[in-house]
Amino acid sequence: AAKQAEWIWFNGEIMPWGDAKVHVMSHALHYGTSVFEGIRVYDTHLGPAGFRLTDHVQRLFDSAKIYRMQLSYSFDEVMQACRDAVVHNGLPSAYVRPLVFIGDVGMGITPPQGVDCDMVVAAFPWGAYLGEDSMEAGVDVAVTSWQRLAPNTIPTGAKAGGNYLSSLQISTEAKRNGFHEGIALDVNGLVSEGAGANLFVVKKNKLYTPPATAAILMGITRDTIISLAKDLGYEVAEEPMAREFLYVADEIFMTGTAAEIVPVRSVDRLQVGEGKRGPVTRRIQSAFFGLFNGETQDKWGWLEPL
Ligand code: PMP
Repeated sequence: AAKQAEWIWFNGEIMPWGDAKVHVMSHALHYGTSVFEGIRVYDTHLGPAGFRLTDHVQRLFDSAKIYRMQLSYSFDEVMQACRDAVVHNGLPSAYVRPLVFIGDVGMGITPPQGVDCDMVVAAFPWGAYLGEDSMEAGVDVAVTSWQRLAPNTIPTGAKAGGNYLSSLQISTEAKRNGFHEGIALDVNGLVSEGAGANLFVVKKNKLYTPPATAAILMGITRDTIISLAKDLGYEVAEEPMAREFLYVADEIFMTGTAAEIVPVRSVDRLQVGEGKRGPVTRRIQSAFFGLFNGETQDKWGWLEPL
């Protein structure tokens, strides 16, 4: 098995990575009933710090609430589990993956009333999601033939395991066709997001990003970028976006905890701007990464030292 760290937190205990096992009849395995988070711990000037850890844990609880899933742990206990998973592995920086799922509760779609969920928190090293050079060179993306979920089908505002079947279609179709990543349109044909990242367009020095109603996950990095961009003096609009707006953009970049800030150099084989990272993207990247060495003042209290 792929062992990504020594220790893992599982149902309240720190145990060796390989010991965290579930039964093959687990509900989540059959029906996709899990909610999760992806959080980065950065090696900062203040020591290892969770980036917006509280906001991520809040989103985990919100996702669980949407699915009426019952956590066995309090907010503070989940926060501590995230810290413990990193500290026990002695990691100065890490990707942290808390996952809450319906376990081995018997077959049938409806789980028994009031059943407690299982929970795991893994923490392991993870570098740049789309490769180190993509942060400067940018990536090639394509609009995928798969639409994002309609709002009255599966709620994209919850970060749930089952949603990632949609993400899988988006990203694997893009990769089969020789692109780095896919961009999906929503059910109305308007721009939504990537498989695991939100999207920003820069046009005439102004930033645009699809709104909450465009079948997106409300990314915490997206929110971070909106705040940082406004702080740098840019106007930011959360508004519906047509596909062709991507074709005439000055710059495009994608944002997410794993992806961080990745410039997009082409869409559907049309070059975006100069075909490499643009000046606004560069400024926003350095404001973002500056948070972790103190060059950008953390006015928002986003760094949460472990
Ligand atoms: N959209 C989707 C579908 C995602 O999986 C992610 C990654 N969590 C994002 C957007 C970006 O969200 P965040 O910035 O909170 O990581």
